[in-house]
Amino acid sequence: MENSKELRSWLDEMNLDHPLVIAGPCSAETESQVLEIAHELKDTDVNYYRAGIWKPRTRPGNFEGVGALGLGWLKKVKEETGLKTCTEVANATHVKLAIENDVDLLWIGARSSVSPFIMQELADALEGTDKIVLVKNPVNPDLALWLGGIERLYSKGITKLGAIHRGFSTFEKTKYRNIPEWQLAVEFQNRFPDLPLICDPSHITGKRDMIFDVSQTALDLNFDGLMIETHTDPDNAWSDAAQQVTPERLVQIMKDLRIRKVTETDSSYRSALENCRAQINVIDDQLINLLGKRMKVADEIGVLKKDNNVAVLQSRRWNEILGNMILEGQERGLSEEFVLRMFKAIHQESINHQETIING
Ligand code: PEP
Ligand code: MN
Repeated sequence: MENSKELRSWLDEMNLDHPLVIAGPCSAETESQVLEIAHELKDTDVNYYRAGIWKPRTRPGNFEGVGALGLGWLKKVKEETGLKTCTEVANATHVKLAIENDVDLLWIGARSSVSPFIMQELADALEGTDKIVLVKNPVNPDLALWLGGIERLYSKGITKLGAIHRGFSTFEKTKYRNIPEWQLAVEFQNRFPDLPLICDPSHITGKRDMIFDVSQTALDLNFDGLMIETHTDPDNAWSDAAQQVTPERLVQIMKDLRIRKVTETDSSYRSALENCRAQINVIDDQLINLLGKRMKVADEIGVLKKDNNVAVLQSRRWNEILGNMILEGQERGLSEEFVLRMFKAIHQESINHQETIING
């Protein structure tokens, strides 16, 4: 599958002057809701109208989608607005029904791509289709599993393929609903530069006010498109209410995003540079996060030391850390002088934190 230009021909043939945009509600709720949103999105940059019909919910008892009934509504969307349509498929019956009802693009959700059994069932059901199929990353950050799912489709003659990055579950409390782990998406692009990669900022953030920033990062990292959940009454949506934006907000987001195009004036040098800078931003963000976490643990140690009346500075422990880090640093091409200076600064910050705790 490596280096196959045919993988992105479906996207190149669209000849877009902006990233591919997939928008529409998390779930199809009623016929009038589906049509109302579609009409609002009709004369915008939106290329595909999304609506989940079969909804995988984390816990039973929540709204699980309207089912096959919604396929007729998507047909009407196409007739009335001319928008192409897409929905999530999770088993062979969904595939059969979606194809019979002329859905243009099918995506496979994160709870399906995590299972090779489900991916194989879907690949078998989709064999030879000329529909576009996009595979969301599995819920856990496993690149091989994601790629494996896509390869299962490719080996069944499905060539209009792409991937959707929707972030990864984590037990940790973070500002994201699903952490982006951008380095994994970058690695994905390095391995398959010709496979279109779409970002789903809605499921990464879980919050509508963070969608713009995540979309901008994705575009800076050379993503090919965005899937953004859009609803005319987001607060009253039957699923994922907090993360959906209104059609007006979507239009504004698309207007405000800096979209870099590689033209003669914007040379490949500039584009490569911007991409490297975006990667550096992602890594710096991780560094600051990690340092913040390290200080929180240092604070806990401060409390322990205070309660047990122990001195803040423990030289033996400190020398041990330094020795280890100098060795680790060497293996990564970092000079001893740099590692020493950096850890001295980190250590000093920890001591300051602990002294504040002990001296109140
Ligand atoms: C969705 O797109 O509405 C959805 C259920 O997404 P995911 O598979 O990423 O959770
Ligand atoms: Mn959703």
